[in-house]
Amino acid sequence: MTSEFIFYLIVGVLVFNFILETSLDCLNASRFDAQLSEGLRNLYDKEDYLKSQAYKKEKFKFGTLQSILSITLILVFLSFEGFGFVNEIAHRLFDNPTLVSLSFLFILFLGGELISAPFDYYFTFRIEERYGFNTSTQRLFWLDKLKSLFIALALGGIILGLILIIYSAVGSDFWWYAWILIALFSFFMNMFYAKLIVPLFNKQTPLEEGELRSQIQDYASSMNFNLKNIFVIDGSKRSQKANAYFSGFGNEKRITLFDTLIKDLDIKEIVAVLAHEVGHYKKHHIILNLFVSLISTGFMLWIFSFFIEEPVLSQALGIELPSFHVGLVVFSFLYAPISLVTGLLTNYLSRVFEFQADDFAGSTYSGDHLSSALRKLSKKSLSNLTPHPAYVFFHFSHPSLKERLRNLKNKS
Ligand SMILES: [Zn+2]
Repeated sequence: MTSEFIFYLIVGVLVFNFILETSLDCLNASRFDAQLSEGLRNLYDKEDYLKSQAYKKEKFKFGTLQSILSITLILVFLSFEGFGFVNEIAHRLFDNPTLVSLSFLFILFLGGELISAPFDYYFTFRIEERYGFNTSTQRLFWLDKLKSLFIALALGGIILGLILIIYSAVGSDFWWYAWILIALFSFFMNMFYAKLIVPLFNKQTPLEEGELRSQIQDYASSMNFNLKNIFVIDGSKRSQKANAYFSGFGNEKRITLFDTLIKDLDIKEIVAVLAHEVGHYKKHHIILNLFVSLISTGFMLWIFSFFIEEPVLSQALGIELPSFHVGLVVFSFLYAPISLVTGLLTNYLSRVFEFQADDFAGSTYSGDHLSSALRKLSKKSLSNLTPHPAYVFFHFSHPSLKERLRNLKNKS
């Protein structure tokens, strides 16, 4: 394989991906005005439904503009040997190969963040604001950006730094050391994310004693589910959208409810949402998800280990001297079709899990209350009621509202 062939392969993969994503978006948009199914017809009044239509269309236009701009930028950057330029800067800054690699990746990461920041800003303060979702302030928005940047750099720097040190010691065998390292890190994060990272962004307070807490605990103990940690998070400081999630294992397991969820749903609906989350735990979805993501990471690292020492990869980007960081960039471009497939599989699995958790909530608590909670949440977030099946297949980690309601109804 020549370096020229690899260059055109990268361009081909990028263009293919762009065409696929844009076609899926267009297909999905073609159904924005489709007839609502029987069970969803009375969800909105006319005015609210028109508002939800406008919201979908605006997000579609914005997303399309963003992806056209981003593919153009990447192609221009590739054609003008931008990666070679960044590589030179990194070599001028440091002599140590590990530091060269880290600074190269750091510059690319920072560049990506700088380009996406205005889009995030527009999305939050124009689109989300116009539809009444945004509650964040400018100050909070930029503070969030800075904090996430710092965390990504600190954690990413440590993990990548360790992998680079291992690579310089053992060469292409590095992959399974890296795999163990990433596995330990993911497990640790799943366990302590709520204690270490969330407090940097949000306030979490234990759910106060009262009707809601006692109904949640009644349900949990009827399921033999030891649940001490029920927290309320102040999601309302950024958005009106509501959510609930489950994290951790063993003694660290906790349920986090958004304050917006408590405001929007009644007690029985909240317990039904919680029953869905307990279902994920009881059906071992949390462990299974972690396991699946570890398998796909291991597979990716293994494939990467075959390519890493090929000088032709670096040469494709106009860089003579092969290196870990340039190999990584080329590999991440070329891996896109494989990650498309693994993404499809994980989304499929996730949708199966969602049905199972819904079934669990239906059989152990109440399918009717879960249905009414899902309807309220979907209405509140103006979510798309008529997604194209192809779009659902590629992108949805949850089944559409229509399918979930139908499933709950059939089981009751
Ligand atoms: Zn779920």
